[in-house]
Amino acid sequence: MSNSQKIEDVIIIGGACAGLTAGIYTARANLNPLLIEGYQSGGQLMLTSEVENYPGFPEGILGPDLMQKFRAQAERFGTRFLTKDVTKVDFSKRPFLIQVEKEELKAHAVIISTGASANLLGLQNESRLMGKGVSTCATCDGAFFKDAKVCVAGGGDSALEEAIFLTKFASEVTLIHRRDELRASKIMQDRAHKNKKIKFIWDTVITDVLGQDQMTGLKLKNKKTNAESEIACEGLFVAIGHTPNTKLFKGQLNMHENGYIDTLSNRTQTSVEGVFAAGDVQDHFYRQAVTAAGSGCQAAIECEKFLANR
Ligand SMILES: Cc1cc2nc3c(=O)[nH]c(=O)nc-3n(C[C@H](O)[C@H](O)[C@H](O)COP(=O)(O)OP(=O)(O)OC[C@H]3O[C@@H](n4cnc5c(N)ncnc54)[C@H](O)[C@@H]3O)c2cc1C
Repeated sequence: MSNSQKIEDVIIIGGACAGLTAGIYTARANLNPLLIEGYQSGGQLMLTSEVENYPGFPEGILGPDLMQKFRAQAERFGTRFLTKDVTKVDFSKRPFLIQVEKEELKAHAVIISTGASANLLGLQNESRLMGKGVSTCATCDGAFFKDAKVCVAGGGDSALEEAIFLTKFASEVTLIHRRDELRASKIMQDRAHKNKKIKFIWDTVITDVLGQDQMTGLKLKNKKTNAESEIACEGLFVAIGHTPNTKLFKGQLNMHENGYIDTLSNRTQTSVEGVFAAGDVQDHFYRQAVTAAGSGCQAAIECEKFLANR
């Protein structure tokens, strides 16, 4: 392991909405940030096509194009990039230690913006057709399915929330669940059952997503009878939860029961002073590009004040 003597003012871990915004702000505050963007640079928006709810783009913008603009803006003010994954951190010492493969880096402050990943069913065509009918976010993509038939995979509160939200646009929403009862709260179940646009398929797993350039339907298998069938639909919303990318920080920072990083109320300060968390890695409620960018800005401003007062 090489032992660099240089101590960075701030290292940002994660190169998507939150991290790149933190890059713009810390670079413009002359903190000369080093941003370790990871191998999934651009983050979740690289998996989608049209983004219509990011302010400033009235015609909409492709997710990867939006991320390219964020990155170019951070670069313009001098953010330095490292396109590798962080493999280990040690926040028990100061300066903080951040290991990137065999290289050990040091920083007075760290902004964590490693995001979260939507859990997927694990089907090959599910990933291929992501953004082409398959989605993990009804708030983001629901409006693209006006008068269409869509399916939702899942059985918890978030699956029912997605299904109910989708009835604003879709002509029919079919919830496909692998059991014969839902895990969701009673109140959400009541709301879903009362909604005439929502249909249920029980005891059934999705075995394939059909379609070439655009999704056209799903292949299903009944778990009790093993009977196989197909359903025609234009959209599949996979609503089986999210996993925050926080494994790296276990034992170093306080976390919620659900694995998201705990921050002070309305702040990005974590349980270790000088370590900040922004974006989906600490947000299991909004999960939007604009809120991630907003908290990247908060983290940068909090970080700047921390460094100034040090
Ligand atoms: C299919 C889809 C469509 C969506 N559409 C919309 C939309 O239309 N509008 C909207 O507002 N939101 C949308 N979202 C949600 C939005 O993408 C997220 O809220 C946003 O990307 C969160 O940004 P983030 O910066 O917190 O993290 P992420 O986008 O999750 O990015 C995490 C970053 O951390 C990096 N990283 C992870 N681990 C490491 C590591 N060990 N070392 C270094 N780097 C690491 C990754 O490389 C990546 O750069 C969509 C999401 C999906 C999945």
